[in-house]
Amino acid sequence: MNVHSVVGVRPEFVMAAPVLCELSSRGHESSLIHTGQHHDEKLSEVFFDELPLPSPDHHLGVGSAPRGEQVARITERLAPVLAAESPDAVVVYGDTTSTLAGTIAALATGTPVAHVEAGLRSGDWRMPEERTRVVVDHLADLRLAPTDDAVATLADEGVIRGVRQVGDVRADAVALSRATGVEPAAAAVRFDLPDSYVLATVHRQATTDDGPTLRSVIDGLGRASLPVVLPIHPRTADRLREDRRLRWAGDRVRLVDPVGYGAFLGLLSGAAAVATDSGGVQREASYLGTPCVTLRETTEWRGTVDRGENVLAGTDAATIAAAVDAAAAEPSGKGHLPACAAENVVSAIERWRDGEVVDGV
Ligand code: UDP
Repeated sequence: MNVHSVVGVRPEFVMAAPVLCELSSRGHESSLIHTGQHHDEKLSEVFFDELPLPSPDHHLGVGSAPRGEQVARITERLAPVLAAESPDAVVVYGDTTSTLAGTIAALATGTPVAHVEAGLRSGDWRMPEERTRVVVDHLADLRLAPTDDAVATLADEGVIRGVRQVGDVRADAVALSRATGVEPAAAAVRFDLPDSYVLATVHRQATTDDGPTLRSVIDGLGRASLPVVLPIHPRTADRLREDRRLRWAGDRVRLVDPVGYGAFLGLLSGAAAVATDSGGVQREASYLGTPCVTLRETTEWRGTVDRGENVLAGTDAATIAAAVDAAAAEPSGKGHLPACAAENVVSAIERWRDGEVVDGV
């Protein structure tokens, strides 16, 4: 079997790594196609250095551009690769511009599509990620859902065929990286942090591209009792710079460059709490037992809230500060790492390629 994976941004590198390892261990051919959506060294190369990921077989080099142009460039550059190489399937991951464009290019060339992280919904239709999830789930041939809830969500939308509950490949990635990752204490020393600190990430367009929202979030983090370390995403830094607020933000929270995956998991594991608008970090926090505060009104990982591992604080400064203090006062959980999703992903693709109907759980 020959399977192509399309990736472009860091959560996709993280999700693809265990799937590529599993494909290779079963003797399948696989190609990695990097769209170039993230081209910053700290958001891309460092993941290839740290994760068990081969160098990309194709680099589409789309670079920074408005979303519509990125979709067009990826589609235009990917379609000829798929037409020439005729893989058995294209795997797309999550909810990004590369996920959407990878799906369109596959459809245009008659290549079957498998979507990893199918069936997640935040219920917030304003988020471009939400629209991408819905479109890709409905267009894909094989929908690989992380949870039973995600399977049920697909069924509610009338999507029954080609659905399989496989677990969360991010858990596999955490397990893969733990062996070679950075110990929490070493991560804290590297960033000169005290014993008790809060980790934060802020990068979603809905947070960064509205000045008052971004200011309110930073203000809320700055009002928390413990020091907050924020590995700052380039988009967030750009918006603060344009708003002449970068120094203001640096006076409130500890700004550091984005960190590699191993160091990030070390920081996350050692933090008293994490505050984030990321989807993946909410899930990783639950695997590592770190209480999570989500800086949004909605989440696509509803189960983390229902289990009491995560609270939705929104973007109001006072609410964020209170939620972060409350989360940091909680004892850290043990976490749980149910890591065999990549095996299930590859088994599902094998069975489906062999003509078996894959539906339900
Ligand atoms: N991450 C990282 N370094 C950082 C911040 C995040 O390695 O400085 C990792 C994090 O562990 C997670 C992924 O990048 O696996 C999350 O990416 P992001 O928040 O950009 O995307 P999302 O998960 O929201 O789609």
